[in-house]
Amino acid sequence: MQAETSRQTVSVVCPVFNERENLPDLYEQLRTALDATALPWEILFVDDGSTDGSGEAIQRLHEVDSRVRGILLSRNFGHEAAATAGIELAVGDAVILMDADLQDPPALVPALVEKWREGYDIVCAQRTARHQESAFKRASAYLFYRAMTLLVGWNLPADTGNFRLMNRAAVEAFRSCPERNRFVRALVAWTGFRQTTVPFERPPRQAGKSKYRTWQMFALALTSVTSFSVAPLRIATAIGLLVVPFATLTVLGILVGRLFGAPVPVNVVVVASIWFFGGLQCLLVGIVGEYIGRIYIEAQHRPIYIVRKQFGETDSGIAHRGTK
Ligand code: UDP
Ligand code: MG
Repeated sequence: MQAETSRQTVSVVCPVFNERENLPDLYEQLRTALDATALPWEILFVDDGSTDGSGEAIQRLHEVDSRVRGILLSRNFGHEAAATAGIELAVGDAVILMDADLQDPPALVPALVEKWREGYDIVCAQRTARHQESAFKRASAYLFYRAMTLLVGWNLPADTGNFRLMNRAAVEAFRSCPERNRFVRALVAWTGFRQTTVPFERPPRQAGKSKYRTWQMFALALTSVTSFSVAPLRIATAIGLLVVPFATLTVLGILVGRLFGAPVPVNVVVVASIWFFGGLQCLLVGIVGEYIGRIYIEAQHRPIYIVRKQFGETDSGIAHRGTK
């Protein structure tokens, strides 16, 4: 037992939402890649409320290979929540998070593990090429990573998705973050451990279609900014600070002008300022509302995910850590 616990173990976590057609290939490729590391391993497929039979496919894989664990959530909680479930339930010394659509190539796993064994705490797979992704998706991703780094002041490695390895210390730090509105990759970077990247070319998804729509990407970017930065609040304050003295001077100017009989077209001034301040107030209230909304959600303290069923929680191939 002593010798067994001193061996390092690897967990791979894949959130799965209607990926039945991808699962057999994904398992085969992962098994080959993980065997190449010569370390004991487990794979956790987190079924995020799939309706295409992915849950049954996971169960079949578990029956064939007990190192495959299935975590079936009670409904669709979203990619970030499913990833969180997997990271929290994984028992490996290193936990690798990756998509289930083979856009994150399993063949890269040994390279991630290699860097971890060199002593890095977090190893991110960095995309060098994005095949078949629209110019809009590439441009928005480019802008997002740069803007995030600028706004939050610490480095969110550019062009990395969720495909990354975390060591146990980084996983425990991640687990200690209780918030509901979460953006996994930013939260992992925020923990502040020693990070490095391994480059790879991102292939197109193997089967099925992307579950993310443009507005969801936008919502995720908004979550990311508002959960790590109060800069938007400061922008609002700055606008207010600029506009208020300007408005006061304008009103004073009009009053003084009228006092000395200058012809100021009042109706123009009034209409312009109503529009201007109306718009400004909408903007400020919108930003404040964004934060209040998040406070509300956090205050509810609901669980991030609910597990309906698990396969292999006790008989996974790797020795459970911390057993006394
Ligand atoms: N996913 C999930 N829950 C969701 C949406 C997606 O678990 O509500 C999973 C999906 O099965 C895949 C990963 O998250 O393994 C990434 O999703 P997708 O490929 O649709 O995103 P994209 O690559 O287009 O950004
Ligand atoms: Mg994908």
